[in-house]
Amino acid sequence: MNNPSDALPEGIQVTAVRAFQDNYIWCLHNNATVVAVDPGDAAPLLAFCREHTLKLGAVLITHHHRDHTGGIAKLASVYPNLPVIGPAGGHIRGITKSVDEGDVVRLPTLGCELSVIEVPGHTLDHLAFFGHGVVFCGDTLFSAGCGRLFEGSAEQMHHSLNKLKRLPDNTLIYCTHEYTQSNIQFAMAVEPGNSALQDYADKVNVRRQQDKATLPTQMAREKAINPFLRTHCDEVCRSAEAHCGAPLANDTAVFAAIRRWKDEF
Ligand code: ZN
Ligand code: FE
Repeated sequence: MNNPSDALPEGIQVTAVRAFQDNYIWCLHNNATVVAVDPGDAAPLLAFCREHTLKLGAVLITHHHRDHTGGIAKLASVYPNLPVIGPAGGHIRGITKSVDEGDVVRLPTLGCELSVIEVPGHTLDHLAFFGHGVVFCGDTLFSAGCGRLFEGSAEQMHHSLNKLKRLPDNTLIYCTHEYTQSNIQFAMAVEPGNSALQDYADKVNVRRQQDKATLPTQMAREKAINPFLRTHCDEVCRSAEAHCGAPLANDTAVFAAIRRWKDEF
């Protein structure tokens, strides 16, 4: 297992390939090989490979939703024997190697190793891949927000976010969707007194005006501005209680309340 504080090896970078409205297919690559995370659509990824004369070496899948898996069949037909690594259970067509908590995904062509973290909540099969100071977390943790609860409970999601929160502060967070701006709107309703959030909003607005990605974000920043990681903070708790008109017994209850609030926001 890699030392979690190890940076990415020399010559390896992470590039965003845009798909659909607001998805990013994160590409971990050197100048020869790409490992792609959550290719919901094959076409933009194949175009990226062609443009940079890169070979697709493997695919990582965080969860079963179509916007994360829709490109698998096409990619496997273009690259026979393509390793497709993702959740166990057999429900995702095209997975060639299933992994779960604590497994290490070795990517020898890139000299990288990522460890698997189970993060149920958005879906029950949801995984994150962590190593070399980066985490690919799909639809679990977003910048200034978190994924909707489609399958799991608030308790599960809160526990999963707490697992991610224990990653080093300098961890770069690569989530699948560009939701930052709208997440910030909600975060400001929860924590109007958070000046770090206000500063971040300004920065994000400038990047979006220039049509630039707001991702990756960093764990230290998310701990400072993301209400879903701040359920222990006074203002978050008070806002949640005011919104639901009842006292909330613990952090998980605060989390559940703001997740419900966000659904209707
Ligand atoms: Zn999803
Ligand atoms: Fe998604």
